[in-house]
Amino acid sequence: PPRISDIPRRWAERAPHAPALREGERVWTYGELAAAVDATAQRLRELGVRPGDRLMVVAENCVAQIALIFAAASMDAWAVNANSRLSAREIAQFREHSGARRVIYCCGSAAGAATAASPEAAAHGERDGAQRESWLFGEWMIGPLNEAAQPEPVAAGADFSARQPAALIYTTGTTGQSKGVMLSHRNLLFVAAVSSTLRGLTPADRAYGVLPISHVYGLASVMLGTLYAGACLHLQPRFNADALLRALREDQLTILQGVPAMYARLLEILGQPGAGAGADGAARRETLGASLRFIYAGGSPLDPVLKRQAEALLGQPLHNGYGMTESSPTISQTRLDAPRGDTSVGYAIPGVETRIVPAQDATGELWVRGPNVMLGYYKEPSLTAAAIDADGWLNTGDVARQDADGALFIVGRSKELIIRSGFNVYPLEVETVLNAHPAVAQSAVVGRTVAGGDEEVIAYVELDPRHAGQPEVLEGELHAHLAAALAPYKCPAEIIPMPSLPAAATGKILKSQLRTLAQQAAQ
Ligand code: ATP
Ligand code: MG
Repeated sequence: PPRISDIPRRWAERAPHAPALREGERVWTYGELAAAVDATAQRLRELGVRPGDRLMVVAENCVAQIALIFAAASMDAWAVNANSRLSAREIAQFREHSGARRVIYCCGSAAGAATAASPEAAAHGERDGAQRESWLFGEWMIGPLNEAAQPEPVAAGADFSARQPAALIYTTGTTGQSKGVMLSHRNLLFVAAVSSTLRGLTPADRAYGVLPISHVYGLASVMLGTLYAGACLHLQPRFNADALLRALREDQLTILQGVPAMYARLLEILGQPGAGAGADGAARRETLGASLRFIYAGGSPLDPVLKRQAEALLGQPLHNGYGMTESSPTISQTRLDAPRGDTSVGYAIPGVETRIVPAQDATGELWVRGPNVMLGYYKEPSLTAAAIDADGWLNTGDVARQDADGALFIVGRSKELIIRSGFNVYPLEVETVLNAHPAVAQSAVVGRTVAGGDEEVIAYVELDPRHAGQPEVLEGELHAHLAAALAPYKCPAEIIPMPSLPAAATGKILKSQLRTLAQQAAQ
């Protein structure tokens, strides 16, 4: 039965000497990767991991993490992915909830200082009484065996691939508590295949692997998508604009996938093309992007101004993909021939159906069905039943608009909808206007409940240090800027500057924290 671990194995047979992963200066061929996966599965068996067990992997992008994910999958255990940057409390929560039999902390590689040496992971491990071990890839730490952990039944028969979880991944927690999403081998293989095909990937491609593999976007769309094509993934444990610039200049990267925040950071340090960054900025930009043939952003709304600037900087269209953890994650993406300036999130990927509810409206809640839809939320059957209907349709919780041609546009999340004096306000619309102001680096709009149950629009802004004038002057200017573009009921009652907005490891703004803040400030 097909498992995600067949991906490296298949290429190890076909092209054992082809490069699969690059970590610092060290290149791992497909042959070496497949051998490392087998050796790791053997070590996991010795450590008491059995089929149906959950194996928690605490890591930032590194070879050890990838070998562990494939090894677990090859023995019908589920990898529970956690980012090393999570707090000890969050790691403990995921460990408890998943009932993991072992936790393995990846904390450094033999490849040297250029790659992961995660002090957070080491600190978590030490607190949990983990034992340090030198392994094929460097150092990892093995948490104590959880004797109480019970294996889940392993799927059997022809639909093994569709029923057997390969990974358990927690959602970002933007709207509240993170949920544990069970993704099957088929879910992940489907998205790997589609990602690779839609990008026209070949073994000659070199992709940048900075999106956290602990999240589904980095796992399925980037890591599995790249390896599915037999291409090479350049691992980078944590986003750093200078490291990216170096990689763009020296490594002949052809594929770059990121989140909008990453492109914003690139523009911040290089200056916008044609916007007075001077000769220095121009010289630094010159050689950028020459080898790139596909650049892509996903995971959170891509601001149209940011998109245009990134396209000018890198000299090509910035593709946009939309999805969620529950859909492995890809639902739609722009096509290879999409023009610059396209503000849609593209078209549903082949094999995936979408529908807008209510059906007679052009704008409404987006539902999806297809081989990318999760098995369910682990240990949360009622949440699963609320998310997926009897016919297999998943409610994304996002409001979207579809044009006559089938292209999708994200309007906002239904949970974030603010009802101001009976009028609907989508935070995304207000944020888009705010972000268009040169003094705003990024913004987040939330609702605040006021007397009588009405809601008020509150904007949090992170100012661009180059444009931040006097705060009072600026505040007046921003209010005027909004009033010129939006109906009065959409205009924020308050604009609150913050040095930096609270964000997850993927750069996504954690709005539930801001909502709590806004509510507290009112009391
Ligand atoms: P939680 O479900 O725990 O509250 P989350 O929904 O942020 O957190 P993810 O699964 O990481 O967790 O994110 C999926 C959501 O991200 C989508 O439902 C959508 O709101 C948003 N999103 C993803 N890609 C895009 C995109 N290209 N444009 C706009 N929004 C996007
Ligand atoms: Mg969600």
